[in-house]
Amino acid sequence: MSKFWSPFVKDLVPYVPGEQPKMSRLVKLNTNENPYGPSPKVLEAIRAELGDDLRLYPDPNGERLKQTVADYYGVQPAQVFVGNGSDEVLAHVFHALFQHGQPLLFPDISYSFYPVYCGLYGIPFEAVPLDAQFRIAVADYARPNGGIIFPNPNAPTGCLLPLAAIRQLLEDNGDSVVVVDEAYIDFGGESAISLVDEYPNLLVTQTLSKSRSLAGLRVGLAVGNAELIEALERVKNSFNSYPLDRLALAGAVAAFEDQDYFEQTCQTVVASREQLVVDLQDLGFEVLPSAANFVFARHPQRDAAELAAGLRERGVIVRHFKQERISQFLRITVGDAEQNMALQEALGELLA
Ligand code: PMP
Repeated sequence: MSKFWSPFVKDLVPYVPGEQPKMSRLVKLNTNENPYGPSPKVLEAIRAELGDDLRLYPDPNGERLKQTVADYYGVQPAQVFVGNGSDEVLAHVFHALFQHGQPLLFPDISYSFYPVYCGLYGIPFEAVPLDAQFRIAVADYARPNGGIIFPNPNAPTGCLLPLAAIRQLLEDNGDSVVVVDEAYIDFGGESAISLVDEYPNLLVTQTLSKSRSLAGLRVGLAVGNAELIEALERVKNSFNSYPLDRLALAGAVAAFEDQDYFEQTCQTVVASREQLVVDLQDLGFEVLPSAANFVFARHPQRDAAELAAGLRERGVIVRHFKQERISQFLRITVGDAEQNMALQEALGELLA
C-alpha cells in the first residue's frame, strides 16, 4: 500500500478473472468462450473498417449499433445502452442504479463480480441462498431492498429461471430496479427483454462474448426503460464517452445482422451440451440442468480440486471454485467435438 492511494483503494477486493493461458495447446474449457469463431461477416465488417478512418474518433453514442439492437429486439434505440463488454455495462449499472443505501440482493452463488462492484461503489449487499436444488427462490427476494441482480441462466450453476418467475419478481419488487444479467440466455432461455415495456424497473444486460463468439472484441449491452438507460449514459459520459472503438462497433452490428450463423452456432453448442451431460453422467457425474454453454457437475466420490488439477496436467483446463457449497463442482465450458473428446479421455484416465 502506498501513501499516495485514495483511502478506499486499500479495502478494494478486485475481481480475479478466469485464467487466460499463454499456451495455446491447452484445451480451454474454463471461461465459457464459444468454441466456434465469429461469423465471417463480422470479420469482413472489421476488415472494411480498417482504413484511414481509424484516425477519427468513433461515434460516441454508438447509434448504428443501438439502432441494430433496437430493431433486433423490437424496442426503441433510447432503450439500448452499449459498453465495453457486459462487465463495463454492469459497472455503470451498479454505479448509476444501486447506490440507495439499502442492501442490493443477489444469489449467494452467482457471478463473483457483483460483490466486487459493491465494494468499488460502497453498496451494501445481501447474498440470498439458492434453494436445495441450486435454484433462485423468488419469494426470498420479496422484501425492501436497494435493487436485485442475478444472472439468467445463473452462473456458475447454469440453472434457468423461467420468465413467469421473473415476472413475479418484478411484481413483488416494483420499487426497486431488477437487473437480469443474460450473458448466457441464447443457449436455451427466453430473454426478459420482452418484458421491458411492461416493467419500468427491469433492466436486462447481455454480451456478445458468448453466443456471438466475440469475447475478444468486448461488447456488451443493456436494454430497459429509457429513464434507466439515461442514468447509464450520464455515468458513462462522466468518465468514458467512447466506450466502443470503431472495430467493435462495426463487428457488433455485423454480428446482429448474421442471424443464420448465430442460430446455427447456438444450436451446435446446445446439441454438444446435451451430449456432454450424457457423457459426464456415464462417467458417474451429477450434472445440474444447464441452459448455458457450460455445465456444473460433481462426482460423488472424487474431490473436485484434485480432478481439476488432474485435468490440467492432461492439458484440459476447467473452472473450480473454492466457495464452500460449490467446492465439489467443476464448471466445464461446452467445447467443440475435439475438445469434448479430449475432456472425456482425460476424465476417463483420472476416474479409472
Ligand atoms: N455476466 C456473467 C454472468 C458472466 O459470466 C460474464 C462473463 N464472465 C459476464 C457477465 C461478462 O461478460 P463480458 O464482460 O465478456 O461481456
